[in-house]
Amino acid sequence: MGARFGDYLLETGRMRSIEKIIVHCAATREGQDINTDTIRDWHLKRGWSDIGYHYVIELDGTVGIGRPLERSGAHTKGLNSTSIGCCYIGGVETDGKTPKDTLHGKQLESMENLLRGLMAEYPDATLHGHNEFAAKACPSFVVADKFKHLIV
Ligand SMILES: [Zn+2]
Repeated sequence: MGARFGDYLLETGRMRSIEKIIVHCAATREGQDINTDTIRDWHLKRGWSDIGYHYVIELDGTVGIGRPLERSGAHTKGLNSTSIGCCYIGGVETDGKTPKDTLHGKQLESMENLLRGLMAEYPDATLHGHNEFAAKACPSFVVADKFKHLIV
């Protein structure tokens, strides 16, 4: 049995221990085509060292690489040091404020593939939505329902 990448990073002291995988939305309007670099720019302009998420699922299903996994993200207050943050573009109606689950089609497929991969890499980590830890709608759905089939 080969060592997993996460184990290697733990042994070298570069990896953090991961307890949770947390799903977010970018809270951008349905259909608005924002990419990972734009989110990174927003977060850098806030004075952060890098984009707050580890992965961003763009509208066409592209998986954008955010902050390196071995570094704590900036996405869920109190849980950043022990979690991975995965964000999809969208999550709000065209009015710009009403929460809406806009994660479907290729974008949904990509998110599921990413989450499956991360859950295989970190089998002890549990899967959550931001709204389980904050009084927010993010990611505009209940992770335990939408991704029920991924949670075994
Ligand atoms: Zn969030």
